[in-house]
Amino acid sequence: MGLVVAIGIATSFVISAVAVRRAVVEQQRRVASERVVAAEHWFGTTAETLQGSVRDYARWDDTWQFLHGERPGYESDSFTAESWDNLDLDAVLVGRPGALILAGQRRVVGGATQVVPAGPAVLGAMEPLLREPTERVGLVQIEGEPWLYAAEPVTRSDGTGGDASVWVSARRLDAARLEGAEQLAGGALSLFPTTSPPPPPGPGSGQAAVRSLALGPGFEGWSARLVRHETAGPRVWSQLTLVAANTAALGLVVIIAALLLLDKMVFARLARFGEQAARIRGGASDSRLTVAGTDELDELASAVNGLLDADAASQTRLRYDALHDPLTGLANRALLLDRLGAALSRVRRSPDVRAALLFIDLDRMKRINDHLGHAVGDRFIAEVARRLSLQVRGSDTVARLGGDEFAVVLEDVASFDVAVSRARALLAAVRVPLLEAGHSYDLTASVGITVLRPESTEADLLKEADTAMYAAKQAGRDGWSIYDEAMHGRVTQRLATEQALREALKGPNFSVHFQPVVDMASGALLGFEALSRWVDPVRGVIAPDEFIAVAEDGPLIAELDAEVLERALAAFAPWVARLPGLFLCLNHSARRFESPELIPEIASALGRHGLPGSALVLEVTETQFGKSEDRWRDRIETLASLGVRVALDDFGTGYSSLVRLRAVPVAMLKLDRTFVEDLVAGNEAVAVAILQLASALSLPVIGEGVESASAAARLAELGCQYGQGWHFGRPVPAEEAGELVELAAAARSAAS
Ligand code: C2E
Ligand code: CA
Ligand code: CA
Repeated sequence: MGLVVAIGIATSFVISAVAVRRAVVEQQRRVASERVVAAEHWFGTTAETLQGSVRDYARWDDTWQFLHGERPGYESDSFTAESWDNLDLDAVLVGRPGALILAGQRRVVGGATQVVPAGPAVLGAMEPLLREPTERVGLVQIEGEPWLYAAEPVTRSDGTGGDASVWVSARRLDAARLEGAEQLAGGALSLFPTTSPPPPPGPGSGQAAVRSLALGPGFEGWSARLVRHETAGPRVWSQLTLVAANTAALGLVVIIAALLLLDKMVFARLARFGEQAARIRGGASDSRLTVAGTDELDELASAVNGLLDADAASQTRLRYDALHDPLTGLANRALLLDRLGAALSRVRRSPDVRAALLFIDLDRMKRINDHLGHAVGDRFIAEVARRLSLQVRGSDTVARLGGDEFAVVLEDVASFDVAVSRARALLAAVRVPLLEAGHSYDLTASVGITVLRPESTEADLLKEADTAMYAAKQAGRDGWSIYDEAMHGRVTQRLATEQALREALKGPNFSVHFQPVVDMASGALLGFEALSRWVDPVRGVIAPDEFIAVAEDGPLIAELDAEVLERALAAFAPWVARLPGLFLCLNHSARRFESPELIPEIASALGRHGLPGSALVLEVTETQFGKSEDRWRDRIETLASLGVRVALDDFGTGYSSLVRLRAVPVAMLKLDRTFVEDLVAGNEAVAVAILQLASALSLPVIGEGVESASAAARLAELGCQYGQGWHFGRPVPAEEAGELVELAAAARSAAS
């Protein structure tokens, strides 16, 4: 920086020095030539004034009269020492050669002028000038000095009366007189005859400039020389020193101004940026660098601000992402817990504050995912999320906990009734059919409700709402349930049962019993229904209705069905050899039936035990059929291609049994025990209708729960071919069932 400024100053100095020098030299040259002209002019003027004074006297009537002896007092009156001084004359001669009338010479004594008769040197040099009666000026040399003279013939003032008398005045151009010219010329002047050599220049005139002056009329034959000392150099250098000092001072001012400007424009702003940056780093995320104009620093500040904005946006984004579910944009579990915590502290602070937590689980979402794919499933979930959000108020929080689980914190719920009506509204919103590829799908949800109490924790509340939701599912889905303590016990119990069953499944405490299916007319053994049995060492016998229900809440039921398939087939395979045509009915839950493993597992199990497909009947409960008939039809047809039949279990208890029958190609119906009981009680209508329908569709029917001979007889009369119930035989262990097979085989061979 300093170097740049120094180089700048030096350069400017050199340039200005050259320029100044040139200007000074030029100026001096011009002044010098002007002075020469002035000096030359001085000579001309001196000659002219002298000539003028001579002319005045020569053409004055008083002079003429005096010359002719008519003015005796002329000399003392008009030609006094004073007038000599005024006219600056040194010698005056008037007359003709040899007839001088006036010849005087000035002498200065003690500073006073005295006019004395002209001495011989003056006379000798000037008398000859009287010979020529013409008007003229010129120079004569008297005692080595140049005298300027002017001559004029004496006449009357009108020019008459001339008689060859001449007036000559002279002025000695000595050093003192030349001083005036020297002042004008600015140097030493010397006047000398052109023919004689010039006088030597004065001392110290080594660097002097010597010039000859051009002298005008009257100075013919004379030369004037001007010797002037060259003062240009030192003067120029002193001026340059001044310039340099000025330049340096200016440079200093410029540097100080530049530093001040730099401070104001750059350093002060950088310092401010630094303070602002520190503030931003300290957490004032909304503050930004000041942008005042459009210079480079402002651009830099704008760029930094841009980066800060982008950073703030991505931070906001990150914060948002950390607390929200990406699929639905709802709060995630973390944010829900946060809001729940806040609601809890409000409840703890004031007993008047009421809030509720709702746990929402979509019913059968897994089936939607399996049937329509996860992309559609995700769309449905997003749509449900949107609907839930529309149902709540701004102060409430809707969160997605994962999968098809949602939770809602309802603030300001005055009573249970309010919480329930809000839950109902949410359920109704979910229930609106969803459209996908031109089809409409029904979705429902189960809602568990719990109320925030001062002593509860977030984890407690989530567990409670989950438990209540579970209860709502148990109660048949598409409903709500409020958490209570007993519910907790039941749920705990249920979970314990599920765990115990999982452990028992492969062991000896779990077994398969077989209940005979007989020909109604002959009572002959046609097959068995396999029924699972579980005896817990602590709790004793656990009813299938209980543990099947527990297993059906999760994936355990598919495991159970597969286990029963394997164990039942193992027992059953030898019996078929004894009694060809014997079939085995296996209960299969919907989850198992829909599993992709079903067909390959059944095919391989049949192969392993050397059984034809026709030996197997899969019982599926009608109510579990669901709505995706197309897929069920596929399943049933694939099983049929293996020879495996499908029976609709508990037929008549579902809602759309008749419609369903046309759509799904089942091979057999099982008339539910309740209708057989009705039948016994005298209410035959449903049983009759079902049996007539089955006959119209040529579907064989197994009457279930036949406990008495009369029931059996009546069913047979109504056209029910097969029967199952205590009347024909209770479910028994495999050994006992084997014995039944032996008996039947013996009976058959006896009959044939
Ligand atoms: P289900 O398929 O309707 O089975 C018939 C039920 O009726 C059996 O109950 C059987 O013991 C009972 N039963 C048979 N004859 C009579 C009778 O004359 N009177 C009365 N009152 N009951 C009779 P169980 O064994 O308790 O099984 C209950 C349900 O559990 C079954 O109903 C079936 O839906 C399910 N289940 C049993 N084992 C399995 C299994 O291995 N897999 C699946 N998915 N479900 C099973
Ligand atoms: Ca059954
Ligand atoms: Ca049944």
